[in-house]
Amino acid sequence: MEITLHYIASLSILVILQLLGLVWFNKNKMPARIIYGIYLASIISICFAFSYPLEQEINLSLTSIPFILGILYSRLVPLLVFTTIVLHAIFFGFDLGFWLACISTPFYAIILWKISPWFLAQTSNKRIQILVQTSLCLSIVKIAFLELFHIDYPILDVVFAEFFIQSLGIGMLAFFTEEVNKSIQLKNYLLETKKNDAIEQMGATISHEIRNPLTAAIGFVQLLQAQSPSTEKQSQYLSIIRSELKSAERVVENYLALAKPEEETFQTIHVELQLYNVLKLLIPSAQRNKVYIKQHFSESHIIQANQQKFHQCFINLIKNAIESMPNGGTLCLKVINDQQYVRIIIEDDGIGMTPEQVSKLGEPYFSTKGDKGTGLGMLVVFNFIKEMNGTIHVESEFGKGTIFEIWFESSITPTNEIEIIDLKDLVLS
Ligand code: ADP
Ligand code: MG
Repeated sequence: MEITLHYIASLSILVILQLLGLVWFNKNKMPARIIYGIYLASIISICFAFSYPLEQEINLSLTSIPFILGILYSRLVPLLVFTTIVLHAIFFGFDLGFWLACISTPFYAIILWKISPWFLAQTSNKRIQILVQTSLCLSIVKIAFLELFHIDYPILDVVFAEFFIQSLGIGMLAFFTEEVNKSIQLKNYLLETKKNDAIEQMGATISHEIRNPLTAAIGFVQLLQAQSPSTEKQSQYLSIIRSELKSAERVVENYLALAKPEEETFQTIHVELQLYNVLKLLIPSAQRNKVYIKQHFSESHIIQANQQKFHQCFINLIKNAIESMPNGGTLCLKVINDQQYVRIIIEDDGIGMTPEQVSKLGEPYFSTKGDKGTGLGMLVVFNFIKEMNGTIHVESEFGKGTIFEIWFESSITPTNEIEIIDLKDLVLS
């Protein structure tokens, strides 16, 4: 039973490798095709290392397992054909088996590649069955070949190893692969459901969120009607009404942005100019909080992004920074060009966040502002920045302040096509 023992040893290592690989893949989301290819190639070399030599330069091994799995699941045809042939030459030289591999592997690969779309459309259990049947077919071909060329081989041992161990092996490995695929799909489904739930829940709470600022605004309108306040009082009431209505508007904007994702359209964005427009909108609330705004705009940077989304992200981020300094402070806004990236830095010396709070940023309804917060702003920021292919980095220390850094790929457009902006004009008063 020497061949069976070789197959069992080889299979045990394959199972261990598969389990380690699956744990790794599961942690690191889906494997990149190239990493999966390297993984399959190492499995093929292990199969060769544990192969059993028959006479006339023929070796029996479990290489068909990674070969079938790799092509049916990932369609990595050239890589697997090339690896199998090259590894054969490395392990056994240019023997008869090598020339047979040169002919048979592309042939099998093309058949498997052809049936792969049909295979992937089957149910999980059906796929495992198909894999076992394919492996049995290959075993029959292998044994027929040994018979045809009158190669001397221990018949019982080979039949047991090929029909039982190989089929069992491919069945087990296919089962593990299917389980991991299911868990990845389930994870994605749960994430999607969680997001949809959040949006639905948002719909229910939205009326509550809007009612508060509207009630306050109505209250001040009534005051204006009932009394005849002085001009100073009138303008004070009107500015409160404006800010309450603005906050109701922002709730609606954030909600719509999440519930109805629009088709992505990118425009040329003059970063400094757009940030300046955002700052202008937020000056009244900065003044209320006695927040001093420092802007370091040195040159005009250009990126490709969706203007509306860009606006909404920076309104939310800067508004949070202002709100984190209820007793005044400094908000520093910088734009830096770092090789191919434009880095937008928003720094505040406000209340900061604990590491736990930082990890919760972007979760729907996470807010430390009680009734005043909606916990939607950062959710919108994270979604939009991702949609605009940007990245977001947060550094925060509780009691000290927070730095948000948003990176976008810099857009190199010929300068004559774009309007040049004189940054000296962007002075906030
Ligand atoms: P909201 O502002 O309505 O509370 P957001 O989603 O905009 O909701 O923000 C979520 C939470 O993240 C805030 O309640 C706050 O605790 C925290 N946060 C966001 N930005 C800052 C910041 N610059 N400084 C301190 N905390 C922040
Ligand atoms: Mg906010």
